[in-house]
Amino acid sequence: MKKKIFADALKTLGVFGGIFILFFLGMHFLSKEKKTKWFYSDQKTQLISYEQEIELGELISKYLIANNKEKVLKTPLIDSVMWAVTGRLQKQIQRSEYDYVIQVLDNPQVNAFTLPGGRIYVFSGLLKFCDSPEQLAAVLAHEMGHIEQRHTVDKLVKEFGLKILFSILTGGDSVLLTELWQTVLSTKFDRSQEKEADQFALKLLEDAHISPRSMAAFFRKLNRENLAYDEQLEMLMTHPHNNSRIKSSLEYTPNDGFEEVAFDMNWKRVKEAL
Ligand SMILES: [Zn+2]
Repeated sequence: MKKKIFADALKTLGVFGGIFILFFLGMHFLSKEKKTKWFYSDQKTQLISYEQEIELGELISKYLIANNKEKVLKTPLIDSVMWAVTGRLQKQIQRSEYDYVIQVLDNPQVNAFTLPGGRIYVFSGLLKFCDSPEQLAAVLAHEMGHIEQRHTVDKLVKEFGLKILFSILTGGDSVLLTELWQTVLSTKFDRSQEKEADQFALKLLEDAHISPRSMAAFFRKLNRENLAYDEQLEMLMTHPHNNSRIKSSLEYTPNDGFEEVAFDMNWKRVKEAL
């Protein structure tokens, strides 16, 4: 009798052990799946390789510059500012697929935008608007978030479909390139993508020893200057949530031991030179 009870107990233990192992394996694979989904926010994006994304960005940027749609602003002072600010951020991005190309465009608008494949364009109006290099770093870190999470290419896939994007890669015409460029400028990222880019930016600022509060300072300045409702501004295309974005920037707590390192540059002189 005792033997039977013992055998039953062993069986029960075996069944529960089996269930536990299955549950554990299930969770393991599920969490892997989750990670993949988080990285590729849109499943379709996986069908465009990084190489194709980079090529697409190159085509649009060449078209922009060649057709004088935008003019790149290049002076030794601007170059050194951009090198200092972007260099500090880039160093902290681990295993990036992109070689960033970050340029200033001669345009008075307070704006910045990204093209697929690691290209960020900052308007000279935005540089002039920022009160400090740290605020500029906050905007750039946000744009880098859109790039690393493939939001820009995601947006183009949604708007145009893969067939059209592939046709551009195999010799696209100028009408399509103009449309692509206008879409990059005028189409909003969705709210969850803006949140992802903000969260990416806050962590990146911390890693680069730049105060994450500089993002709040930038948003506050936009509020003060009544630019918070400007639909043109990429950073504010989710404008009703401007205040909640200030709040999450202020609530972000860097790790103990975080030390802010100031940029060694005369920001007033940079602004005057623009
Ligand atoms: Zn954004």
